[in-house]
Amino acid sequence: MEPQVFPVAGELGRFHVQSSGSCGLLYLVDLDELVSGWCGCPHFEYKVASRLVLDAECKHIRAARAYEAGV
Ligand SMILES: [Zn+2]
Repeated sequence: MEPQVFPVAGELGRFHVQSSGSCGLLYLVDLDELVSGWCGCPHFEYKVASRLVLDAECKHIRAARAYEAGV
């Protein structure tokens, strides 16, 4: 099941993306941050913090980008 995307009202490029896991947490995604976007999820933070990958992305960023592109 794909994550659900909810645009943040009045804030271009920002989305709340609901995790598809059982917990269903909402993560804030900002597509204008870093190289290819920023996400508040632990997976993304781990990627950026541990490997210093500035163009890291996670499924939430991909879902937000797809939403923005109208897919
Ligand atoms: Zn994420």
